[in-house]
Amino acid sequence: MDAAYGPTDRIRTLGDPVLKEVTRNVVAEGDGLDVLIETMFEVMDREEGIGLAAPQIGIQKRVMVWRHPENEERYVLLNPHIVERSEETLTAEEGCLSIPGHAMEVERSERVVVEGIDLSGKPVTVEATGLMARILQHEIDHLEGRLIIDRTSREERLRVLREIRQKREQ
Ligand code: ZN
Repeated sequence: MDAAYGPTDRIRTLGDPVLKEVTRNVVAEGDGLDVLIETMFEVMDREEGIGLAAPQIGIQKRVMVWRHPENEERYVLLNPHIVERSEETLTAEEGCLSIPGHAMEVERSERVVVEGIDLSGKPVTVEATGLMARILQHEIDHLEGRLIIDRTSREERLRVLREIRQKREQ
């Protein structure tokens, strides 16, 4: 489906079924990735996000981009998956461009090791802690059809859903 339509720069938000679907692995250097990644960076910059996953612009491919929290450098990772995670976790407030205006508490592993491939198909291993580990877990969740609202506590989920409903009724 997506090949016929191509990526658009519209952010998909909570309730859009594409956000709940599991993505497919991609083949490096092909698969329309240049246009997809260019669009993802444009959207991430425009929306001032620190990371973006392909389903957020309606594409079911296992592609994520992010910005390094300290040096602002931009990264792409294809077919990422978590191969190792710390038992220690941290709970912090997290936002998502697909649930705009509603931050919520999410518990994440303090440290993760992620494997994937780069644009040339070369295997890449990323080891991250703190905020960067949080970004990687957040985006990989998107690639598996999971949002922060599925990760937060029941109380937080009910609070956010109530806020969204009230906003829609206004
Ligand atoms: Zn998100």
